[in-house]
Amino acid sequence: MRRVRHWSVNNARWLRWVYLGLESCLVMVHPLLRRLGYQRLDAGFARVEKLIKGFLFDSQSCGQCTLGETGMACPMNCPKTLRNGPCGGVRSNGHCEIDPGMLCVWVASWQGSQRIGAPESTIQVIQPPVDVRLKGSSAWLRAVRKRLGVD
Ligand code: SF4
Repeated sequence: MRRVRHWSVNNARWLRWVYLGLESCLVMVHPLLRRLGYQRLDAGFARVEKLIKGFLFDSQSCGQCTLGETGMACPMNCPKTLRNGPCGGVRSNGHCEIDPGMLCVWVASWQGSQRIGAPESTIQVIQPPVDVRLKGSSAWLRAVRKRLGVD
């Protein structure tokens, strides 16, 4: 829902803190998660993520979440699924060239990153190309393993 999506960008600063707090909590319980098995937990986590992030951010469940880096705007809502900034077609009112009724995802992303503010904003970090094989898997569990450097 676009209205909720815009609310999330307008509240990007504290939502990002919630996001980072959640990630830290999951890192703390990593031994338990490992014992239970990341593979076994993935589908359940992915379902919860889809519900929460789908509602708040119109998340497309790519499995490689960049919300913390993109001003709490999901770049997968860009019709071209651009992950590193806007195309050349943003309209003069900031709306999308393909979907004129939608604010360009990258305009929203920039607004959200301004709300997060320096030095926490990481919008200039280059994102790797999206790996479509990870679509529908849990980005939260992946973020925990990435932060700890484990598989
Ligand atoms: S205008 Fe923005 S949302 Fe639309 S296709 Fe270009 S980058 Fe994506």
